[in-house]
Amino acid sequence: MTVFSEVADRVWVRRLDWCDVNVTVVGGSDGLLVVDSWASAPSARGLLEEIGSLGGPVRWLVNTHDHFDHTFGNAAFAEAGAQVIAHEDVLRTLPDHAAAVQRQAALDLEGAPPDPRLRGLVETEIALPTRTFSSVTVVDLGDRAVELVHPGRGHTSGDCVVRVDDVDVLVAGDLMEEADGGIPSFGEDSWPLDWPLSLDVVLQMVTPATVVVPGHGRPVDRDFVEEQRNTIGVVAETIRDLAARGVPASQAAEAGDWPWPVERLGHAIERTYAQLPAGQKRLPLV
Ligand SMILES: [Zn+2]
Repeated sequence: MTVFSEVADRVWVRRLDWCDVNVTVVGGSDGLLVVDSWASAPSARGLLEEIGSLGGPVRWLVNTHDHFDHTFGNAAFAEAGAQVIAHEDVLRTLPDHAAAVQRQAALDLEGAPPDPRLRGLVETEIALPTRTFSSVTVVDLGDRAVELVHPGRGHTSGDCVVRVDDVDVLVAGDLMEEADGGIPSFGEDSWPLDWPLSLDVVLQMVTPATVVVPGHGRPVDRDFVEEQRNTIGVVAETIRDLAARGVPASQAAEAGDWPWPVERLGHAIERTYAQLPAGQKRLPLV
């Protein structure tokens, strides 16, 4: 079992083994704010007991985006009395995402050795956010304030970063990743053309001293964010150029010169091709 490590005054991060996902806790005089809820309600109930040792009731839970490993524990936090806060798109997209994940997990369970964690995921009751915002909102923890900012679309349409200004910490969700080779996840709900520009907004909130907590992996610094932003920009620009040269999406993987192994780019190519006709943005991505 991993433990919480205090990365700044009353800001604790725990890297959980299942899904290798981070949960962050921010302490204030009026209670605790938790960022992301892990991958099932039963797992989150166990986690809540551990969080209890940090002192104070959990009064707020923030989802950095809708993905199951960040939201499926919501019901446990709601039962404990926490307000569940997320970008407004999470409210819209979470029900379908959750249904798809639970359907697939139920199939995976069939004929496989019993996996209590996966069973917990399948049986998890999905709790939706009860408070949403569109661009920015502030949560008052009593003696400190926490800012939630939607910098634009990127890893999903509803990404949010959590800024604890008084100790210069920023929790970034999956807008960047340090784990697994430090390659972000381009899912079928990602927005590769918008992503570098959204990270430019994040960089405006980050100083050379900021501790940046990614959704997966160890805390990173501004240089890491900048480098990942630039590499995502190269990916997006490469795809845009291939499309402009008339290369069909089906041949783009072979035709491109990629900064990361092409098999790690997930749905980046199809997502970018799909988005190009609607948005012929010429803002610099690299
Ligand atoms: Zn994610």
